[in-house]
Amino acid sequence: MMRDRVCLFCLAPEAMSVKFDRRGKPFLRCYACGVRAFMPSLQALNGVAILTPYAESVVDRMAHDPTYASAKRQEVATMVDAIRARLTTPVGAPSAPIERTPALSSQGRTA
Ligand SMILES: [Zn+2]
Repeated sequence: MMRDRVCLFCLAPEAMSVKFDRRGKPFLRCYACGVRAFMPSLQALNGVAILTPYAESVVDRMAHDPTYASAKRQEVATMVDAIRARLTTPVGAPSAPIERTPALSSQGRTA
C-alpha cells in the first residue's frame, strides 16, 4: 500500500496513504477528509490491507451503478442518523442539567 488508495473513512479515491510518525509508528492520512488514524503497530494494518480493495470495489461500483450507489448512501445516512439520535446535547449548546436517579434506601424505597 505504497501508493495512495481509497480513504477507508470518506471513500475519496487515491487520497489515503500510510505515513510513519517520529517513533516509526504507522498512521493513515487522508488528503481529502483530513483524518489521521494512528496505529500502535504494523499489525493494525491487517484490516486496512484486506478492506482497502473491497472499499475500492464499492467506490467503483457506486460510480457505475446508481441503484447500488443509492443503497450505499442510504446505509451511510442510516448510520449517521443513529449516531445523531444518541447525542443528548447538540454540539455547542449549553449542557442540560443531569437528572439524578433517587438513591435507594436499605429497604428498597427511594430516599
Ligand atoms: Zn478521507
